[in-house]
Amino acid sequence: MSNVLHTMQQKLADRAAQGNLRQLNTTAGLTDFCSNDYLGLARSETLRAYIKAAEQKYSHLPLGATGSRLLSGNHPLFEELEQTIAQYHLGEAALLFNSGYMANVGLLSALPQRGDTVFYDEASHASMKDGLRLSFAKSYGFRHNNVQDLRQKLKFATGQVYVVVESVYSMEGDMAPLQELVKLCQDIGAALIVDEAHAVGLYGEKGEGLTVALGLEQQVFAQVITYGKAMGAHGAAVVGPQVLRDFLINYSRAFIYTTGLPTHALVTLKCAYALLPQLHAEREKAKALAKRLYARLNHIAGVRCTPDGSVILSVMLEEGGTAKLKALALFLQEEGFDVRPVLPPTVPEGRERLRVIVHAYNTMEEIEGLAKAIAKGI
Ligand code: PMP
Repeated sequence: MSNVLHTMQQKLADRAAQGNLRQLNTTAGLTDFCSNDYLGLARSETLRAYIKAAEQKYSHLPLGATGSRLLSGNHPLFEELEQTIAQYHLGEAALLFNSGYMANVGLLSALPQRGDTVFYDEASHASMKDGLRLSFAKSYGFRHNNVQDLRQKLKFATGQVYVVVESVYSMEGDMAPLQELVKLCQDIGAALIVDEAHAVGLYGEKGEGLTVALGLEQQVFAQVITYGKAMGAHGAAVVGPQVLRDFLINYSRAFIYTTGLPTHALVTLKCAYALLPQLHAEREKAKALAKRLYARLNHIAGVRCTPDGSVILSVMLEEGGTAKLKALALFLQEEGFDVRPVLPPTVPEGRERLRVIVHAYNTMEEIEGLAKAIAKGI
């Protein structure tokens, strides 16, 4: 027992010594440049009203799913919502998971078989990497957004090949070269899997995500759609061929061995999907504000902000490393801005940054204020 405690204490002390100890914080009342609520749906009174009205309609359903969907936990609202999701993202079928983390783990641990090969972008989310660690297939990382490096790694390919990417990267904020990846996958008969977590809501005529925005839904094998970000809710879905849905229902342990989502979560998603097409102005506003912040920050000596055109901005300092970055984040919080540092091991050593998220509900004054505070604080 004391050994267990000692090991944990030692590991925490290691983190603290590196300056990377994580703690849970609550920051009430600060200007939000941190959350993934890109379009403001998590705080939308309209969405709240939609949900309130819809709850009546589904009051005959149990509050909780009461079991795995393969046992007592399924009901028609699941199936109805999954049809809506499949149609929205232009796929044949959809299957809900309890979170984006579980969707990626559930998909990537089950789909690639022993003898198959998966190539994933090294900047891919932890849930994709964790899914691949549970898989019997071999997997290889390729350099971030580097199709050339991917091509070189193809020499390791055996069996069915899968390529796994995010359409918009959660930390870098940049986009995968989806057209190029689609072409490569077509040439070699690989299946392309795209995590749309940070593109849903923001790209596409109705916020369908980048795959649909680029008209690539026929060529992408599966899209992972998550609901904790621009949709303001929780949960996720895998969208792809009907046979993929059938397969996951039979083989995806993260789907099978867990209680289904509660009814209120399904109702929320139904309502969020009803609102999403109407949020064109919000999509444009978030992007325009982000563009302004990008331009302002790149005028500050010692600061580098990337990428242009994304609502996820990485703000890196030319010198000072983790300590200076943490001090700057603290200063910004004292100035009233909720901006957090992203530190190793979430990002590689030397790639620590402030991750600044611009939302539709931020104002031009807030953008100017943040830029001024950063210039003052470095
Ligand atoms: N994929 C990506 C790219 C993500 O950024 C995240 C969340 N950070 C997830 C999946 C996990 O989604 P969820 O929060 O719904 O578990």
